[in-house]
Amino acid sequence: MLTDLSRVGATYTLSRVRLHGSLTPGLVAPADTDGFILADLAVANGRVASIATHDAAGTSAIDLAGRIVLPCFVDCHTHVDKGHIWPRKPNPDGSFMGALRANEVDRAGRWTAEDVARRMDFALRSAYAHGTKALRTHLDSVPPQETISWPVFETMRETWRGRIELQAVSLFGIEQVRDPVWFAALARRVAEAGGVLGMVTYMVPDLEELLDRVFSTAIRHGLDLDFHADETDDVAAISLKKIAEAAMWNGFDGNILVGHCCSLARQADRDVLDTLDKVAKAGIAVVSLPMCNLYLQDRRQDGTTPRWRGVTLLHEMKARGIPVCVASDNTRDPFYAYGDLDALEVFRMATRILHLDHPTGDWIRTVTATPAQAMQVEGAGTLSKGSPADFIVFRGRSWTELLSRPESDRIVVRDGKAIERSLPDYAELDDLMVT
Ligand SMILES: [Zn+2]
Repeated sequence: MLTDLSRVGATYTLSRVRLHGSLTPGLVAPADTDGFILADLAVANGRVASIATHDAAGTSAIDLAGRIVLPCFVDCHTHVDKGHIWPRKPNPDGSFMGALRANEVDRAGRWTAEDVARRMDFALRSAYAHGTKALRTHLDSVPPQETISWPVFETMRETWRGRIELQAVSLFGIEQVRDPVWFAALARRVAEAGGVLGMVTYMVPDLEELLDRVFSTAIRHGLDLDFHADETDDVAAISLKKIAEAAMWNGFDGNILVGHCCSLARQADRDVLDTLDKVAKAGIAVVSLPMCNLYLQDRRQDGTTPRWRGVTLLHEMKARGIPVCVASDNTRDPFYAYGDLDALEVFRMATRILHLDHPTGDWIRTVTATPAQAMQVEGAGTLSKGSPADFIVFRGRSWTELLSRPESDRIVVRDGKAIERSLPDYAELDDLMVT
């Protein structure tokens, strides 16, 4: 029955699909306890022709018998320039410092345009096969890497247009903003490429001054911003708050996405509330990277067991109206030994690590509608009449069914057609992994 989808014509109706109420604006009907609505989804010429509550009298339709259908995923924080270097440059001890050092050495010695392009393409093929249609990657932009990786990104974005909407963000330590000539050139390069200005913030003594420079530069070039902030358990790390303050006093009206914010979960309640107020007021969206945080945070070298999960306060943020997302982050590199850019895996892990359940409510928006908004990707993250027919058909009919298995046999439909979704073979990269 499910295989019928590979042979459908330009016009067809999927009957008895489970669509989530929070992802189908316009479909107003009683939902089940998981928030799903039994519906009929009609496709014509690559677009959603109609979505209606299930009509038991429908006859010629393809009956999906209550299976869940989600819009294609949006993965708003990844590092496809680092991806898959693990075999040649593993993290020696699983620590954050170990990751930084290993990555630095690998980048300096190995990241030619060809190397970056091949690993990036491999990563994107996996993401596409898993059902992702928009993806934002950070690009290590420490000199001279920016001159290598940004042109690769521009080519890759064209190659992948229509399959994955690819966005890129610069990545370097904020102390590099102290070099005004380099920073001005970098910002120009990012603007030229239609990218997003990003960096890692730490509690350097001149953080406020540097953030001012970042915001004024972003305003001058009309750039959105995307930060890595406070990826540590150090309670003194409050750069998220500093970013929110800088956004307000600079009158910034672009989009800001901030990733990690781990230290927030370790701080005293009154400090947390003050920061969250400011983040909400500044209109900042936050992305949590649960798999990498679980891997790197509280990593101990003394043989003892980790005691915290590493993730930020997503529930408190959401309750305040702060847009919250979860995303892949690293894949098979020194920052995370695993991963395959499968947003379902991310959501499954996030559900366990962050307790996005009982009720699951509309948390599925964290890998669909909310990142689509944060990235400003049109026609992604929700399903409604007229939107592209880009969706994923799962076996599961409820959250417990969907989130208990890898759903490796999911069907990914793009522009109304089931795609061929075999994953690239690891062996393809073997020649790049010789040490
Ligand atoms: Zn990251």
